[in-house]
Amino acid sequence: MHILITGGAGFIGSHLVDLHMARGDQVHVVDDLSTGVRANLAAHEDQPNFRFDEADVLTWDQLDRVVGWADRIYHLAAVVGVYRVIAEPTKVLATNIAGCERLLRAARDGGWKPQVVLASSSEVYGHNDEHILHEDQELTVSTRAGTRWGYSVSKIADEALGLSYSQRFGIPAVISRFFNTVGPRQIGRYGMVVPRFVAQAVRNEPITVFGGGAQTRSFCDVRDTVVALDAMATSSGRETHIVNVGNDREISIRDLADLVIQRAGSSSTIKDVALREAYGEDFEDIRRRRPDLSKLRGMTGFEHRFTLEQTIDDLIDVE
Ligand code: NAD
Repeated sequence: MHILITGGAGFIGSHLVDLHMARGDQVHVVDDLSTGVRANLAAHEDQPNFRFDEADVLTWDQLDRVVGWADRIYHLAAVVGVYRVIAEPTKVLATNIAGCERLLRAARDGGWKPQVVLASSSEVYGHNDEHILHEDQELTVSTRAGTRWGYSVSKIADEALGLSYSQRFGIPAVISRFFNTVGPRQIGRYGMVVPRFVAQAVRNEPITVFGGGAQTRSFCDVRDTVVALDAMATSSGRETHIVNVGNDREISIRDLADLVIQRAGSSSTIKDVALREAYGEDFEDIRRRRPDLSKLRGMTGFEHRFTLEQTIDDLIDVE
């Protein structure tokens, strides 16, 4: 297969590169290296079936040609991370929405209509805190999320674009609502909790828990995420689907901090930090986030291989 991965030098994207290269596919990565790093692709740089272009999806003049070459496109290029979402709201909206639209337009205008896998997010569920989150439920974007609202809006817009291009122009789209994804190569400086906790625990520094720690999240190892995503794309074929991709084991952030301390054999203590102090603005954090995975499991038979403990141990080893 011919696989195009925008944002392929990033965290999730580089694991998708590994998966498709191991299978012998032709893989082309486009990434502007704004948060991704070339080192994530080092294992493949010399392979004849691998190609990398450092380029911005908003402006790259070769995008139409490469989209026309691809059988499947993973569109992951986006501005991510709470710190950047708060600091650069216009860039979030412009990159995430215009980048997606440009890619879908290229897919529409080429002769062959490639399958497009779009990276959406559990953030589209907003403050829908009471439930296990199912693809069919109403989305509730809420101003309680503060400026983070911009990221949710950008992902909802991407979903709308994907559905529209699918219905009007026959482009098969898999819209993947990623829940918190963790694992090797994720960097903590944009606000991701697990790499931050691991780095603090390994250095025996205080673990900084933002916003009380009673809020829950469900963490999926990226090595499971990419297998699930590929399985979903394969089983969808020429159909369009919205699907939750994640892990349904739920853990509070305070319990996560305790778990990381225990796995690292660390003497770290826990330090509570208010959201305003952590991010420079007040917002109401999402209290609970757990995916209903019945659609993913029903369509693909997918099962997780990595427990949260295994993921944390692997991160401790490389820290
Ligand atoms: P990441 O920052 O590691 O990956 C994003 C990649 O896109 C980076 O390599 C970056 O350099 C690249 N990029 C950004 N703007 C670009 C542009 N204009 N042109 C070309 N490349 C550009 O983050 P990630 O965690 O791997 O996220 C991948 C996708 O998954 C994103 O769309 C993100 O919104 C989505 N997502 C991730 C999670 C998660 O838990 N990691 C959860 C929900 C959704």
